[in-house]
Amino acid sequence: MKKFDYHLPKTLDEALNLFASLKNCKYVAGGTDVFVDIKRKKIAPDNLISLRNIEALKIIEKNGGIRIGSCVTHEEILKNEDIKRHYTALHDAVKRLGSKQIRNVATIGGNICNAAPSADTACPLLVFDCVVGIYGKKGERKLSLDEFFLGPGMVSKEEDEIVTFFELCYLPKYSGSAYIKLTRREAMDLAIVSVASRLTFDLEEDILKVKETIANSDLKDMEEKIANLGIKVKQARIAMGVAAPTPLRAKEAETYLLGKVLDRDKIYEASEIASSVARPRDTIRGEAEYRREMIKVLTRRTLLLSVKRGLGLE
Ligand SMILES: Cc1cc2nc3c(=O)[nH]c(=O)nc-3n(C[C@H](O)[C@H](O)[C@H](O)COP(=O)(O)OP(=O)(O)OC[C@H]3O[C@@H](n4cnc5c(N)ncnc54)[C@H](O)[C@@H]3O)c2cc1C
Repeated sequence: MKKFDYHLPKTLDEALNLFASLKNCKYVAGGTDVFVDIKRKKIAPDNLISLRNIEALKIIEKNGGIRIGSCVTHEEILKNEDIKRHYTALHDAVKRLGSKQIRNVATIGGNICNAAPSADTACPLLVFDCVVGIYGKKGERKLSLDEFFLGPGMVSKEEDEIVTFFELCYLPKYSGSAYIKLTRREAMDLAIVSVASRLTFDLEEDILKVKETIANSDLKDMEEKIANLGIKVKQARIAMGVAAPTPLRAKEAETYLLGKVLDRDKIYEASEIASSVARPRDTIRGEAEYRREMIKVLTRRTLLLSVKRGLGLE
């Protein structure tokens, strides 16, 4: 492996100054992507600037929604009670990301800045209307995550800019979310395709009656029963991974659901729309046609799970 110098700044400004004064620099957080790339000779930096000693990047704090520092590891996210209870799609995603050893060092910032279409945290962050904090020589700016992804491995920031945080939206009553990743094996594996959904809804029926009706139902049963529950969609978010060059919001499907009282047909129609706006490719992991079909299945399942969780039943 090529030799490089390793720097451990303690503040954002120190990191920026190092980047400006040294040549051929690369930021590194957990290094699980960077070191693989160096070994494969995809990159050959002379200077690695580690972000791991910058305390400001390691916070998780509530601020109406929740703000997660870019150097928070996946294992820390997995253990956070607020995320586990409320931001369940993100909890689902980190639970299935890599192995415990990978989760212990790999960060959410690295996962997003790497901009892989299969990045597991991308779709959950998209369904929580994530805003990205970015720090550079001109100070701090914010960008919606939607605008941040430009293509595989490409994000909307200057090379010397540091991603500081991810801000997830406030979740009103009756909000539920889920993320499902389809892999070839139930082991450490990248997604063939993945979907995250979030629903925020009103109830036109008595909550106790609604809960009782579906309390012990599996998702297939729920599909049949949901028509009579008076669940009216106030907000819908659907995001798909490995469905396009970047993680992609299925905005047409979200708009379709808005204001509707859920029933089986509407859930199927939203899933069809999501699949129709996806632009998957044939790859060694899966064919485009298979991905399209599975997007329908995963969208239906994540929507139904979102209802269950929004009612506090999971
Ligand atoms: C065995 C293995 C299994 C894996 N399994 C999965 C999986 O199941 N799902 C999945 O999504 N990924 C997986 N990955 C990929 C990887 O672990 C994740 O993408 C991880 O989140 C990257 O985080 P990191 O902190 O290690 O990033 P790093 O390798 O440190 O950095 C990645 C990129 O982001 C940049 N960067 C990092 N932080 C910042 C910041 N704050 N500001 C600006 N730029 C920054 C770096 O310069 C680099 O370009 C796996 C990797 C391995 C080796």
